[in-house]
Amino acid sequence: MKKLGFGTMRLPRLNPDDPASIDIEQFKKMADLFMERGFTYFDTAYPYHQECSEGAVKEAVVRRFSRDSFVLADKMPILRVTKTEDYQMYFDEQLRRCGVDYFDYYLLHNLGRDRYINTEKFGGFPFIEKLKRDGYVRNIGFSFHDDAQTLDRILTDHPEVDFVQLQINYLDWNSIAIESGKCYEVAQKHGKKVMVMEPVKGGALVKLPDAAIAKFNEFYAPMNNPALTPASLAIRYAASLSDVQIVLSGMSDLAQLDNNTTYMQDFKPLSEEEYKLVDDITEILGSTGTIQCTSCRYCTEVCPKNINIPEYFGLFNMHAVTGNKSNMYYERFSMNHGKASECIKCGLCEKNCPQHIEIRKKLENFAALYEQE
Ligand code: SF4
Ligand code: SF4
Repeated sequence: MKKLGFGTMRLPRLNPDDPASIDIEQFKKMADLFMERGFTYFDTAYPYHQECSEGAVKEAVVRRFSRDSFVLADKMPILRVTKTEDYQMYFDEQLRRCGVDYFDYYLLHNLGRDRYINTEKFGGFPFIEKLKRDGYVRNIGFSFHDDAQTLDRILTDHPEVDFVQLQINYLDWNSIAIESGKCYEVAQKHGKKVMVMEPVKGGALVKLPDAAIAKFNEFYAPMNNPALTPASLAIRYAASLSDVQIVLSGMSDLAQLDNNTTYMQDFKPLSEEEYKLVDDITEILGSTGTIQCTSCRYCTEVCPKNINIPEYFGLFNMHAVTGNKSNMYYERFSMNHGKASECIKCGLCEKNCPQHIEIRKKLENFAALYEQE
């Protein structure tokens, strides 16, 4: 299996403000090119695109290709499970939404210290193990957003899993909050294959600040290869790890897909010089003061004031990197949403944030920047 997977959490939209308005026709073209170039792995999940991603995969992939020609991964929404019977209910719904009778890879979605407690209480692991025994799924695992110690504990308790899905990218490799590197080593210690999510950190490693772009261009310009973009460096960084089986990229248009599949078709691990370049870029990124938000929107699912957190953080980062503010965008992003200053500091968002961002404090900073003239 080629190392690039198609993540379906950032599919093209007909209306940029409506995550449910997936552009199916463009998605079909993307799926066609992906398959034509020999890639097969599609990854979806229950909540993506306001619960429309699984249905879109059915339309663009399942109905159009033979079942044995592609590989499909889906995830149990453990956050919504409040009793043991819910597992079966959600699983049946997922098979129906995707139009399949088995999944190649099946994960408990977004496990961490707190969610592990309920997953154990309601029997999440025995449930997926039984699915595998009964032939409804072929490989079992979980996606994970917490520290290496917690990962070690879960993998010690559950040697039956086949793989883990981890957030790995060069910015988070040594991060104290994410511990990408340490988590990867734990997975290796337990002999598990690794699927990678967020290799470009929600786009942060695609739109690099000017100083980093200058370094990047200095290195790659002599090669005169347009496929070698900042995204390619980040994705190849993750794919260069020997126990990584798949690197997921949440591709949003045909051009991105064309670019990713071009350099991943004949994948080459990073050279020594490229690792040095990664170190230089990491140092520059570390000095910009940006918020490390990946736009996953897990925070907005629980915010009682419907605050458009990732969009506001995007504006904050734009200011941190370029010094520019855009009141027009703030007006647009806050339309039908709570303003940053309307945060009641309940903290629900922070419990849900896989990046461990101090959202309340950051919103205060953002409000000071955008709401006080
Ligand atoms: S702390 Fe603020 S932003 Fe976070 S969930 Fe509560 S109201 Fe929303
Ligand atoms: S603040 Fe955290 S939970 Fe919210 S979108 Fe960003 S990374 Fe995701």
